[in-house]
Amino acid sequence: MHTRYIFVTGGVVSSLGKGIISASLGKLLQARGYRITIQKYDPYINIDPGTLNPYEHGECYVTIDGQETDLDLGHYERFTGIQTTRANNVTTGRIYQNVMERERRGGYLGRTIQVIPHITDEIKRNMKALGDTGKYDFIITEIGGTIGDIESLPFLEAIRQLRWELQQDAVCIHLTYVPFIAAAGELKTKPTQHSVNNLQSLGIQPDILVLRAEHELPRPLMDKVSSFCNVAKDCVVQSPDLPSIYEVPVKMQEQGLDTAVLRKFGINPNDTHADLGPWLTFLGKRKNAERTLRIGLVGKYDLQDAYISIHEALSHAAAYHDCRAAFTFINSEHLTPRNVAQQISQCDGIIICPGFGTRGIEGKILAAQYCREHNVPTFGICLGMQIMVIEFARNVLHLPDANSREMDENTPNNVIDIMEEQKHITNMGGTMRLGGYECQLVKDSKLYQAYGEDKIVERHRHRYEFNNDFRHDFEATGMRCVGFNPQNGLVEAVEVPANDWYVGVQYHPEYSSTVLRPHALFMSFIDEIVRR
Ligand code: GLN
Repeated sequence: MHTRYIFVTGGVVSSLGKGIISASLGKLLQARGYRITIQKYDPYINIDPGTLNPYEHGECYVTIDGQETDLDLGHYERFTGIQTTRANNVTTGRIYQNVMERERRGGYLGRTIQVIPHITDEIKRNMKALGDTGKYDFIITEIGGTIGDIESLPFLEAIRQLRWELQQDAVCIHLTYVPFIAAAGELKTKPTQHSVNNLQSLGIQPDILVLRAEHELPRPLMDKVSSFCNVAKDCVVQSPDLPSIYEVPVKMQEQGLDTAVLRKFGINPNDTHADLGPWLTFLGKRKNAERTLRIGLVGKYDLQDAYISIHEALSHAAAYHDCRAAFTFINSEHLTPRNVAQQISQCDGIIICPGFGTRGIEGKILAAQYCREHNVPTFGICLGMQIMVIEFARNVLHLPDANSREMDENTPNNVIDIMEEQKHITNMGGTMRLGGYECQLVKDSKLYQAYGEDKIVERHRHRYEFNNDFRHDFEATGMRCVGFNPQNGLVEAVEVPANDWYVGVQYHPEYSSTVLRPHALFMSFIDEIVRR
């Protein structure tokens, strides 16, 4: 089958969950046996979100090939189990960078470079790049931001042109919001009409509308939207708030979002059938969960999306243990020797979160100490592992000034140090140790037990590393190094075998946990909590 393109735009307000709708549609088409991929185009000017503070855009996700991306790519992978790459997330910054580099090379032969056609051509070239590989039946392209943003205009113009060129092979889905005005007791479709008008004025007629709402919408209201927006009745679907994002594919299937898409492409939906089997089993387990596990996340970014992949990975693993995970955010900036016991002891297990910079570090070290000394199941991720190492050095190796070079340039006890290849880097964007690296596990470790194999590949995002000069001292006093990069000997994982579950990893296992394949290490962590 040749490649077909589905474009997903959003109107009225942001944060409606375009990423979840795109991922759900991807899931449904995949369940019918189609080869799909989902890509996201972000209109902001940063080259990638790697340099963005999590308060701006939530978590920075990392693909296996080392691209720092929008967190929606995490949803795409968790829903479909298909790995994304650098080609799946493109920003305005990258488009301009490509165009300007070509201009410097003389690639435009003296012509004036303009938004149209040069920027839009570059957008189109990128949008079709994955399709051109011939590996996919459907490419779903989500456009970040909201219709009406100035910065998204070139992307919409590119979609308009692509639709014209692709004719039957392009379908546009527009996601809008239907607010409920409580004082009047009414649902309002006007914002949707305006948003569709706006899109039409740019030359794009949506084929399918997805109406987001807090509650179920009545059919007559949807029919009204259909007639005002020139969209067929069976192509208006609703997406009410649901108890979890993982129920969205089921809701979309019930309303025939996938069949509407196929019909628009002229494909008979009855030729294939989407069997959500194992997905429904997962949902059933979540719904019937008997026990709630209280997981504390010790971090400094006090917002929902900052650690989203960790949340999701934990909730996948909990579901497969017939439990639900309830999260408590423990702000490490507010942790003190006096309140740490009270805060941690309310939790069944603790995650020491990734992060950058000195803010909140001492609180994380206090948390790690409490957890280690009280045998709390504890999982340190990236900076979290580094914190475990620093804490152990200070309190067991008796090196009170032990630290990471990131926090203290001058400490002689730099148990975490800058990596050799990072020392001379001055450019901050995209220069960390990023993406998938092999790791060799020590056979009789907790980690090996969890993975059931000794060679793994996990994704990284850091500049600092365990300092091998101290390795002997750690191992002699009870912290074992249990994972190594086979090429350069970098320590990728540590554990304290005297504890039941005290494990730190330099990599980010949370990025690769999916609904149908929960991550082995999160499974092992939850296992330990459930066993107690
Ligand atoms: N700041 C640490 C480093 O650069 C850890 C990074 C992280 O937690 N992702 O090594």
